[in-house]
Amino acid sequence: MHGTMLSTAMDHIRHLAGVIGPRGSTTPQEREASSYVRGRFEAAGLETHWEPFRAPVSGWLPFALAALTGLLGLVLIALDSRLGASVAALLMGVATASVFLEMYFRPNALRPLVPKGDSQNVWARVPAAGEPTRRVVLVGHVDTHRTPWVFTSPARLAFFRVVTTLGVVAFVLATFVFAVIAAFDLGALRGWSLPLAPAFLVVLALTLQPDRTPFTQGANDNASGAAIVVSLAERFAREPLERTEVWALATGCEEVGSYGAQAFLARHARELDGLYAISIDNVGGHGAGVCHTSVEGMVFPLRPAPELVAAAERVAAAQPELGAYALPYTTLHTDATAFMSRGVPSLSFVGLTPAGVLPDWHQASDTLERVDATTVERTEAFVRSLLLDLDRS
Ligand SMILES: [Zn+2]
Repeated sequence: MHGTMLSTAMDHIRHLAGVIGPRGSTTPQEREASSYVRGRFEAAGLETHWEPFRAPVSGWLPFALAALTGLLGLVLIALDSRLGASVAALLMGVATASVFLEMYFRPNALRPLVPKGDSQNVWARVPAAGEPTRRVVLVGHVDTHRTPWVFTSPARLAFFRVVTTLGVVAFVLATFVFAVIAAFDLGALRGWSLPLAPAFLVVLALTLQPDRTPFTQGANDNASGAAIVVSLAERFAREPLERTEVWALATGCEEVGSYGAQAFLARHARELDGLYAISIDNVGGHGAGVCHTSVEGMVFPLRPAPELVAAAERVAAAQPELGAYALPYTTLHTDATAFMSRGVPSLSFVGLTPAGVLPDWHQASDTLERVDATTVERTEAFVRSLLLDLDRS
């Protein structure tokens, strides 16, 4: 193995996180990161594509709007129990359905209400040496998240996980209670809906606060993943796989709801048949190892493709020194979750520690100095071995 010599990942991480710095979704710095990746792909002699799209500037606002709808519903019911409850039930039903649709990357009624900005995907086609029988898209996002209060300590993150679950339950419950009050003219029961008010207020506070915080440098999340995508594209350009065509994809706007992955899936809808996806996200954390997810996504987690998990298990057995393991990831989503939701067989690398923690996640401490080069290098070696394994099978 000559991983150290042949990987350029650390150079790309230094450029993305150190030279460009914070790369908020839809910002000029995100575009600069995409331009950098395009430059690397072109320098490797690859057919390179630049695909612009529009995306929301916040991933938090849809949930804030749903909480506001709930509070508005309580006011409407207080004003007029039957008509108010009818309108409230309708609005809350639409908002609740929209929250679920948003979490699973589908168009919904709340989307048009969120301000939009310009973003872009960059991808390169890395040809196979022979006639390709398989295509694999390697995906890593270049944008970085903000630094919300809920991510500033393990206890707050645990609190956030509880609130996201209770928030969704409160939305569903509110729709039901409002509808019952309207249907049976149960004005006397409107007091029953009042305990929902504090739940909506907590959700509102926690979802309005993040957009007031600065963006992270995002050395781990996700200069590390984007850098491995670029490094492997360069490597496979020099040493092509036999029968596998690799699409190296650097997405924008993962942090606001995988809008780059969604734009790619929509634009390439007719080419998804026979495509596999491997996402690389947050893979240089201190104390993390080579980790792929066993399930991922919120509320109803999605599963990686069994054939890719089997390949990962073969690689893990053949190279025990890489110390790979699988863990569930259900706090938020990744670009792989978006690919999985469209039925694209996927595997997702997320550098959780064995205890299930993402180091420096969405915090000001996600800086270059904190990146563990060994973990980055091992993850790249593992993904490369995985592709070699698939290429042979
Ligand atoms: Zn990420």
